[in-house]
Amino acid sequence: MIESRSFVFPGIRSRVVFGSGTLAQVASEMERLGRRNALVLTTPQQHAQGEALTARIGGAAKATVFPGATMHTPVDVTRRAVDAFNDSGADCVIALGGGSSIGLGKAIAVRTGADQIAIPTTYAGSEMTDILGETENGEKITRRDPAILPETVIYDVDLSMTLPKGMTISSGMNSIAHAAEALYASDRNPILSMMAAEAIKSFAAALPAIVANPADQQGRAAALYGAWLSGATLGGTSMALHHKLCHTLGGSFDTPHAETHAILLPHTVGFNAEAVGDLLQPISDALGGATPGKALHRFAVRFDAPTKLQDIGLSEADLDQAAAIAVKSPYFNPRPFDQAAIRALLQDAWMGREPPV
Ligand code: NAD
Repeated sequence: MIESRSFVFPGIRSRVVFGSGTLAQVASEMERLGRRNALVLTTPQQHAQGEALTARIGGAAKATVFPGATMHTPVDVTRRAVDAFNDSGADCVIALGGGSSIGLGKAIAVRTGADQIAIPTTYAGSEMTDILGETENGEKITRRDPAILPETVIYDVDLSMTLPKGMTISSGMNSIAHAAEALYASDRNPILSMMAAEAIKSFAAALPAIVANPADQQGRAAALYGAWLSGATLGGTSMALHHKLCHTLGGSFDTPHAETHAILLPHTVGFNAEAVGDLLQPISDALGGATPGKALHRFAVRFDAPTKLQDIGLSEADLDQAAAIAVKSPYFNPRPFDQAAIRALLQDAWMGREPPV
């Protein structure tokens, strides 16, 4: 039954091309935007894939590769990429890769007005949001702006087949985190809640299939579909405690993005389930019965996802500092908290304990 509260549905604002072999449509999607000269953005690890993409674009259009994208969108990398954009005479960017490549595309777009085509190869979901987090002088600053949202997103299941098993699980948990927080967001709405529940269900089916066989096309398609839905819920709502804590750990302690989400998720969801267990029921339904935090923890353990903050380089003293930073500025969370509560949550996550709820 629908919740009795008013809501705003912000719409789904990007064009999405989804399937297997859809990369073949990149030139026609560029043409559709009226663009003829692309700067292709990749990480150094996906440089060769970027070069192969420029060969596909060929014909009447042109493309060059900037292979310098990196985690957390450092502003000095963006400056060099904007120079490359201007020097090449590009009229659009094509970001090929995970959140790092897509973040760089957004950073260029917001400075130049360039159209963006995003081609995601992880499940991080950045392609569906108007959110950009950038780092400079050790500080991560996040902003929202309609100009940040990519015009076109091409999901090609074939490109996700090479995502290593560890990254597949962590990135999948990162994606489930967007859906989980959308379920209790202050600006939630029934359409995005439906998409969030469907995303979690998709991952619950996909991840076991991919672990059993990383080349399982059906499993990979279900995971990428989940990533699209979750990304849309992240783009359409405001996140709370979980994303705030991940942002604190990533921004101040440089912890790896997807792994940080995977480790914290059972604990933040477990904490909030004490207040809004009814809204989080889709997690228990999808993952098999237990309370939401416990269900996520058991899912993570079953698939060998990282479960301990101590394994990603944090000390117990870091937890004190992280708890202090996390309560510095106020924001919405469905369950009120103080520094002591966050410190206790972080201790559980540091040790990898099963959450109580
Ligand atoms: P990533 O983009 O840094 O990718 C991790 C590594 O995996 C990179 O070396 C990449 O080249 C490689 N890789 C990507 N796809 C692959 C594939 N299919 N096969 C083999 N290797 C592959 O990691 P991520 O977790 O996707 O993104 C993290 C970044 O995205 C962070 O900076 C985070 O802040 C940002 N992010 C932003 C938003 C947003 O809405 N603004 C949302 C989610 C994440």
